[in-house]
Amino acid sequence: MLHDLPAEDLFDAASTRAKAYLASTADRLAAPSPEAVAALARFREPLPAAGTEALDVVRLLDEFGSPATVATTGGRYFGLVMGGALPVTVAANWLAAAWDQNAVFRWTSPVAAELEDVALGWFGELFDLPAGFGGAFVSGSSMASVTALAAARHAVFARAGWDVEEEGLAGAPPVTIVVSEEQHPSILKALSLLGFGRNRCIRVPVDDQGRMRADALPPLDERTIVCIQAGNVNTGAFDPAAEICARAREAGAWVHVDGAFGLWAKAAASRASLSAGFEQADSWSTDAHKWLNVPYDSGLVFVREPKHLRAAMSATAAYLLEGEEGAREPSHFTPEMSRRARSIEVWAALKHLGRDGVADLVERCCAHARHFARGLQARGYEVLNEVVLNQVLVSFGSPESTRAVIAELQSGGICWCGGTVWQGRTAMRISVSSWATTAKDVELSLETMDRAARRVAARIENVPMAGRSR
Ligand SMILES: *Cc1c(COP(=O)(O)O)cnc(C)c1O
Repeated sequence: MLHDLPAEDLFDAASTRAKAYLASTADRLAAPSPEAVAALARFREPLPAAGTEALDVVRLLDEFGSPATVATTGGRYFGLVMGGALPVTVAANWLAAAWDQNAVFRWTSPVAAELEDVALGWFGELFDLPAGFGGAFVSGSSMASVTALAAARHAVFARAGWDVEEEGLAGAPPVTIVVSEEQHPSILKALSLLGFGRNRCIRVPVDDQGRMRADALPPLDERTIVCIQAGNVNTGAFDPAAEICARAREAGAWVHVDGAFGLWAKAAASRASLSAGFEQADSWSTDAHKWLNVPYDSGLVFVREPKHLRAAMSATAAYLLEGEEGAREPSHFTPEMSRRARSIEVWAALKHLGRDGVADLVERCCAHARHFARGLQARGYEVLNEVVLNQVLVSFGSPESTRAVIAELQSGGICWCGGTVWQGRTAMRISVSSWATTAKDVELSLETMDRAARRVAARIENVPMAGRSR
């Protein structure tokens, strides 16, 4: 028999454990130990017939789960483009979990809908979005791009006199999809989910930083969707938006911006020349769980003319009561119906930071990235990209050496970086996206990288030439 523990005791226990976990992140290794990962086997069991005390469930999670987490909340995790979670957003998330709101309709959660309205208004200012734009809260940039491109699909087919929501794609008039050679895979996935085959996209060549070459754009017309990006996932480079948007505008084409992390450059005055022109687009996708540092999952989509988004997303049935006249009904703009109230943490982050705080967060990460680049160059390593934002690509010599340095760092756990191949060169990626990263973290990471690179060099030099794998 399970006894009924008062819920307060349970929550106290969980919060004590969570606080201890968070307090440990500064010193905890960036990646879990192989032992901790192996110990996850503790969770593998047949579905138990009898239940377990709630307190024991939480204890099991902490004892075996916490050690097997990746310390993305710490200051020395530089993999992918992740970010941590600002303490205020974790606290808001706890309260929101207690509320257990369904953000589908205004009437299922007035507070979630209100905070969506408020945050959308603030994003309009922060990202320089056009008056009257519409938007929605989704799971991440991937889903934001699916949502935005569904709106784009509606618009371009409507111009061709075709109702794509009713008639589908079979027998539809042709449309043109333009992407760059460096498009993020999530855009190609979004296009494929929407029935635009990946092989049917026109791929525009890029320059040495991965920027779409505006001079290589194909002819555009009002049945064209052009996908551009603010922030290449490797170099951080921005497509020349002003030029591309001007061309698209003249032709009546739709421009979608993948700004998963790069759109946040709009918030930072020092990045204004990079982010200029992106406000001329027709739709934008971005993440809050990356650079705004809110808990997973949290993405945002914005569309210049909300009617296209609404036409693509709206679903009605008699049991779905209409909300008040005039108020924005969240479900009209999202692919999901029931969903968690992401606006709570997003609002909390913006309210806590203010415009200056968001700017400072972005500027700080960019400064740390420059610090990394200078530190690596000073130690004799080659930085492969122009460090214009928060991304640094570094080579430690041969592909083999670079891969070996990455492996050493990942197993050492002081800092965590991933690898990539950039225009034929094997590189290590450093992405600075967390509020928690300090100059001290950067210095410690630089020293750790340098030591790993020296060890690798010594080892590889001791291996006879014939033994090297190329
Ligand atoms: C992370 C990222 C995405 C995908 O975003 P998710 O939130 O992971 O779905 C898309 N584009 C770029 C440039 C990204 O960095």
